[in-house]
Amino acid sequence: MRLTTLLAGLAAAALAAAALVAAPASAEPLAKDLFGAKRTPAAGAPAAFGFYSKGCFSGGVAIATDGPTWQVMRLSRNRMWGHPRMIALIEDLSQRATAGGWPGLLVGDISQPRGGPMLSGHASHQIGLDADIWLTPMPNRRLTVEERENTSAISVLGDGGKSLYVDDRIWKPAHAELLRAAASYGEVERLLVHPGIKKKLCDTVTGDRSWLGKVRPYWGHHYHFHIRMACPPGSPGCKGQEKTPAGDGCGADLAWWFTDEPWKPAKPGTKPKPPARDIMTMSSLPDACKAVLAADGGADAPSIKLAQAAPAAVMPAAAAVVAATGLPRLPDIGPVPEPRPQN
Ligand SMILES: [Zn+2]
Repeated sequence: MRLTTLLAGLAAAALAAAALVAAPASAEPLAKDLFGAKRTPAAGAPAAFGFYSKGCFSGGVAIATDGPTWQVMRLSRNRMWGHPRMIALIEDLSQRATAGGWPGLLVGDISQPRGGPMLSGHASHQIGLDADIWLTPMPNRRLTVEERENTSAISVLGDGGKSLYVDDRIWKPAHAELLRAAASYGEVERLLVHPGIKKKLCDTVTGDRSWLGKVRPYWGHHYHFHIRMACPPGSPGCKGQEKTPAGDGCGADLAWWFTDEPWKPAKPGTKPKPPARDIMTMSSLPDACKAVLAADGGADAPSIKLAQAAPAAVMPAAAAVVAATGLPRLPDIGPVPEPRPQN
């Protein structure tokens, strides 16, 4: 018995020693684990801190899971939170897009309740000012929770998403109108889309093309597009992005995407860099994010109450709803389209 106890003791000591050796790497918890565990927003005034891919935010609100002209997908992720201006913008866009012939928005990831790095997926979406909107039109009925988890978005590219070009059987003028509507807001600085989508717009948009400058080609983004807002007023700690270059972006920049360069596989033997979220600790983030993490949980957003009050029956045709909805509209939106803001 003694020997067993001794052996057990030795084993425990060995384990403890191993843990000590491993300790430096795990001494400081990863920011993604801390922010990923928060189920409620940080109470307080709405403010974004840091950069889109390195930050957090307070005063977040959730978009209603259902509105007359939108439905939120992948509810289990709890990434339906954003800066109130982001949420108001999505709600407003859902109406503007519907008026332009899009049947309603399927809303993808926005942010975690307090933002910060995520356990999986996006590098950005950390300060409540990024949102993904599906390029799949909203069906004319309310999706079940299971359908929202399991329904796959449809790529607008040919060859099941493998082509560099959009498939004209999938791509409709309404897609372009949706993007035009999203770009029409002064607060929207960038829309990220696959280069094939940008090319389609470059080839087909007539009339005013000034909004095309906001539409930036990027990898992925053929199942959804990404809306990025400028730093909002009241967020001095928010770090803005470089301005997009002047012009419609249909020239040399876009041509680069249709060379081999962006699509080359990594050289054999090169070790892939670990994603930033697997390294970032609280000390990687702005100091304000410590307070955001420690803050009391904020109340449910009014938009959640709106969802609860919404009729659960089959959706009426979205276009018919637009005029009747009393959803709050952003007060500072001028006529469409607007030039990019100067700040
Ligand atoms: Zn995104």
